[in-house]
Amino acid sequence: MRASITLTIAAFLATLAPAKALAQEPATHELRMLEGFPFTVYHSSGQEERARDMAQLCLRTMEHMDDLLGFRPEVELKVLLPDDWSAHTNFPVYGMPHYTSQRTLVMAAVNNAMWDSFIPDMGQLPAEVASEVRRVYGTPDGGVSMQPFFDLLVIHELGHAYHMQKPVATLRQWMGEQFCNIFLHTFIAEQEPARLDALTLMPRVVIAAGTEGFAFTTLQQLEDNYNEVGARHPRNYGWYQCRWHKAAADIHDEAGDVALRRLWAFLLSDPGKMDDDELARRLESEVHPAVARVMTDW
Ligand SMILES: [Zn+2]
Repeated sequence: MRASITLTIAAFLATLAPAKALAQEPATHELRMLEGFPFTVYHSSGQEERARDMAQLCLRTMEHMDDLLGFRPEVELKVLLPDDWSAHTNFPVYGMPHYTSQRTLVMAAVNNAMWDSFIPDMGQLPAEVASEVRRVYGTPDGGVSMQPFFDLLVIHELGHAYHMQKPVATLRQWMGEQFCNIFLHTFIAEQEPARLDALTLMPRVVIAAGTEGFAFTTLQQLEDNYNEVGARHPRNYGWYQCRWHKAAADIHDEAGDVALRRLWAFLLSDPGKMDDDELARRLESEVHPAVARVMTDW
């Protein structure tokens, strides 16, 4: 997600999972700097290990993308505890990754109510799916946590830095998000396949739950109502994200890293305005048929 959309979602979710109020006693909310990375990393007190894990994941992704995309964005990573959140961002919901500038990426250090709101109703899941959810997202105390999924979204957000800092025409709102999910899936599949289950299971569960109650289900409806979907229909918007995660998996399974490299080159080429029929044709011929099918087989 980018700032504009996540801000509106955050406004909606604020009642569900408000960020902690500032402590009564004076606090500086001064962050520590983590050395040893080619980009700036700040973290809340005591969160050095979490910050290092996230920064290393970003660095490994950048190194992988050096060859694939030939570009490295400037990034400043902030890994925050709830008490420091409101001192460093206007974003009201703790846990939602977002940018506060073109390069400053804010991430939550610890599990939170927003992430927990994505835990499926285990009693409603088929037994074999519930068993999968426990295997992939289970915690040592017998609970379930979506943190293994949300920890990977720093890579999706890093993808936004690539297209925000290069003069790239993303052509459609949905295509910017689809690019970031292809970016994320390509890295995990090729470099850290042990984390593929954490990346793919939650989207599969959300998609399998169906679209009942959703006002928007087509790409055109999303494009025409992008701000409204984000502002008033966060579950509906989350379903779209899950569709793009699933599409990214299908695209990588079929095309490998070719899809990401050619989509990047296509967007960089400033292909100009075009209607959906022409866009689908050009994605098929200039990128990959699997990418065109996001539109044609939606
Ligand atoms: Zn995004």
